[in-house]
Amino acid sequence: MGPLQDAGRRKGDSRPLKAAVYYNNNDVRVEERPVPAIGPGEALVRIEASGICGSDVMEWYRIKKAPLVLGHEIAGTIEKTGPGVKGFKPGDRVTVAHHVPCNTCRYCLAGNHSVCDTLRSTNFDPGGFCEFVRVPAINLDRGTFILPDNVSFEDGTFVEPLGCVVRAFRVARFSPGMSVLVIGSGMSGLLHIRLARALGAGKIAATDINNFRLDSATRSGADLALDARTDVPAKIREAFGRPVDLVIICAASDSAITQGLKSVDRGGTVIFFAPKEPGGTYPLPLFDLWRDNITIINSYASPPYETLVALELIASGRVRVNDLITHRLGLDEAQEGFRLVAGAGESIKVVIVPQR
Ligand SMILES: [Zn+2]
Ligand SMILES: [Zn+2]
Repeated sequence: MGPLQDAGRRKGDSRPLKAAVYYNNNDVRVEERPVPAIGPGEALVRIEASGICGSDVMEWYRIKKAPLVLGHEIAGTIEKTGPGVKGFKPGDRVTVAHHVPCNTCRYCLAGNHSVCDTLRSTNFDPGGFCEFVRVPAINLDRGTFILPDNVSFEDGTFVEPLGCVVRAFRVARFSPGMSVLVIGSGMSGLLHIRLARALGAGKIAATDINNFRLDSATRSGADLALDARTDVPAKIREAFGRPVDLVIICAASDSAITQGLKSVDRGGTVIFFAPKEPGGTYPLPLFDLWRDNITIINSYASPPYETLVALELIASGRVRVNDLITHRLGLDEAQEGFRLVAGAGESIKVVIVPQR
């Protein structure tokens, strides 16, 4: 589409869009917002599917910015493009990353895009839980990927969360044969189990306090699914003969961290994937960590390379994702979706389908 036609279309955007606006976990309201106008290098994307992330219901993390439109695991169709856009056209099926790096700061140059100021401040407008989003030029340039025909919009919502997991594995220097313990078998825990399986892990154990999620862990490839209220470190030694090489903490309670630190073998690695609240602390057993040469890793976000890898893993079928969806809800039901995800019970992936 040429710039002139586009300018003509941009004037016609008076119809409001519907958005699910977050006030707190128990107050998500459907409101109308103006359809964002797009400028040079930008695109308007019609949201077809938008996943609710565990981080969307971390109230301490979200409430300080409320009211706002959340939703960062999106897939949709390009509705229109602004002047100067190359490489994308209306009708393209895409997934779009909300956070993208500058690629030029010292952190990006060093390969740690997750701590780039630009990555932390970029976003699409207004958010994924609505009918349309404006994709800023920088997000279109380095955070927008065409979905192959065999990747559905629903599958596309897993690209960002799986990308976060891919990055954690890379930073932790995962290698084939490693035994793994995943603490917390919600959405991200299950993706860790599946990626570990796909990459040739040795034995895999997983914990949770919910039987529905423990069953999902087993179906995802865990050899051992343990109730987190039992003596997890002892059960792992009993079943595997030794502690594990890699522990992934997807639930940041003190008891979960303690179990994790007691379950890692000498020379092993612990990934803190789920954060504690700002200011939250945990007394580290520093002598044990020193004597046993334990590596502690933190990983946050899915920079573009990991996003691309995640998409390829989904497209190739190496990491299955679609069966993780337990609920598909319209925008009007977003409140119910937040309740399900916050409850961490008999739900795994809750996807909002705004166009239904
Ligand atoms: Zn997320
Ligand atoms: Zn940067």
